[in-house]
Amino acid sequence: MTATHTMSARDVVAAVMDPEMPLLTLTDLGVIRDVDVAGDTVCVTITPTYSGCPAMATIRDDIEHTLRDAGYTGVQIKTSLSPAWSSDWITEDGRQKLREAGYSVPGAAPRRAAGPIALTLIAKPRKIHCPQCDSANTQLSSEFGATLCKALYRCLDCLEPFDHVKEI
Ligand SMILES: [Zn+2]
Repeated sequence: MTATHTMSARDVVAAVMDPEMPLLTLTDLGVIRDVDVAGDTVCVTITPTYSGCPAMATIRDDIEHTLRDAGYTGVQIKTSLSPAWSSDWITEDGRQKLREAGYSVPGAAPRRAAGPIALTLIAKPRKIHCPQCDSANTQLSSEFGATLCKALYRCLDCLEPFDHVKEI
């Protein structure tokens, strides 16, 4: 049987949106490692983003449902934990979308030592610039914003609150 799919499995997976930052696709986030198609079965390998991010289960479900809707009957999702995902993997397109939506984008991720890593998700004491007015006169309001992946800041110049996507 020759399957006819309107989109390649890779394109389907690439366009799935991140449930926590729905303006970003999984491609923008840099979480897709591999998409293998064998007949009507697709094996997708992803690297979870922030450790313990509850969005991961949603991402798996979304990939599965989107692929099934596109006609791929067998869907297998594997996770690849090494190397661990880094906010450095967010693509330039993704960063642009975040900026346009008023987010403070992550700076360079801290260097990691080899071996097991304890992810603390604690914001670095570096100065975060306000995405509205670019002032460095900002203050951390809450270590955990709307989701674990973001910290909530407030600009002391324009007084706008904003989310900073954490670097890991
Ligand atoms: Zn500001």
